[in-house]
Amino acid sequence: MRLVLVGPPGAGKGTQAQFIASNLSIPKISTGDIFRANVSGGTELGKLAKTYMDRGDLVPDEVTIAMVRDRLGEDDAQDGFLLDGFPRNVRQAEILRDMLKDWGQALDLVLNLVVDDDEVVRRLAGRRTCGQCGRIWHVEFDDKKDDVCDACGGKLFQRDDDKEDTVRHRLEVYQEQTAPLISFYADEGILKGVDATGPVEEITQRAMEVLRPFAG
Ligand SMILES: [Zn+2]
Repeated sequence: MRLVLVGPPGAGKGTQAQFIASNLSIPKISTGDIFRANVSGGTELGKLAKTYMDRGDLVPDEVTIAMVRDRLGEDDAQDGFLLDGFPRNVRQAEILRDMLKDWGQALDLVLNLVVDDDEVVRRLAGRRTCGQCGRIWHVEFDDKKDDVCDACGGKLFQRDDDKEDTVRHRLEVYQEQTAPLISFYADEGILKGVDATGPVEEITQRAMEVLRPFAG
């Protein structure tokens, strides 16, 4: 099964990607992993990407696409894959479609993790990080009432990334950038939404119910 996973920050996409890929026995291919592998492996693309990253610039689309093409060409990806973090925009989606078509392949499904903004804010803005050991606590889910780490006694703080205003801004940016991608896949007729609220295992179960009819 050839699958793309999309979802807003705070939807638990990374975790779901792992569970779903392992349930379907397909490799999870995230752009983060591909980048790290190319950079640490010292490939030509990795060296090229590093020149941009070292300058603090965004790695150009072409480099990312070339890395994805290499990765999807590997043996373990021939019978299916789960892509996480790619494509990010309609242009990349079109390139991916054409790339697969050249290989006689096509995406089976794009799974969209659906969580409403208030739920994401509740999840992320409730996080408190320990300044000493780095452990993350949640004011609601861990019933954390004081600002002391139960593991090491360090002082807890709220990361800037987790502040409500920042979270809401990230969600706006995400919706703006992703809405065209979602409609692209809706038009292609391969978009399925999954309710991504509730416990992690329940979300995986719901996702598998959607995916099973499409799995080999
Ligand atoms: Zn701690």
